[in-house]
Amino acid sequence: MSLNLRALQADITSLKVDAIVNAANSSLLGGGGVDGAIHRAAGPGLLHECRLLGGCKTGDAKLTKGHQLPAKFIIHTVGPVWRGGQNGEPALLASCYRRSIEIAAESGVRTIAFPCISTGIYGYPIQLAAETAIRTVQEEAERSPGLVEITFCCFSTGDLKVYLSLLEAPVATPSLKLAS
Ligand code: ADP
Repeated sequence: MSLNLRALQADITSLKVDAIVNAANSSLLGGGGVDGAIHRAAGPGLLHECRLLGGCKTGDAKLTKGHQLPAKFIIHTVGPVWRGGQNGEPALLASCYRRSIEIAAESGVRTIAFPCISTGIYGYPIQLAAETAIRTVQEEAERSPGLVEITFCCFSTGDLKVYLSLLEAPVATPSLKLAS
């Protein structure tokens, strides 16, 4: 099965995919940015479920139901705060994508959408973050053959441009079908 890797500009809460990923904070009790948008759209049942999870470490991920979202599941991951790039940020960001895909695959997810993790309030430069995101999902998806589509859900036009230019560049894995 070939993997469809695509980037689009959207509010992630509107996407009809099996799972959306939340760029959460370690409390998992809601916050600003995409986290706030997901909690508002999913409704109060999400916060109740999150309270039972006991938080989440940076670079790790945890699964909840989608509640009132079109997506069946939400995978909450905690990205690193950018502190100049020499403090383990790339490995931690890669771990967010890897763990999210692992957890998705365990739940039979076939289609998943990621926001631009860490690039908002946490300050990670979008170009560097997008390179890590694309490389990591390509590697990890090879171990998760049930996954058929990965969407990079960009909120801004500028972020979308970065993803589209990286996805259009020649990639190492010839089996990937790239679409925008
Ligand atoms: P972080 O704390 O990990 O940086 P943010 O939520 O501040 O998380 O930002 C992560 C990304 O999510 C940013 O690119 C931001 O523009 C984007 N974003 C904010 N709201 C939404 C939304 N409703 N759908 C998709 N992306 C969103």
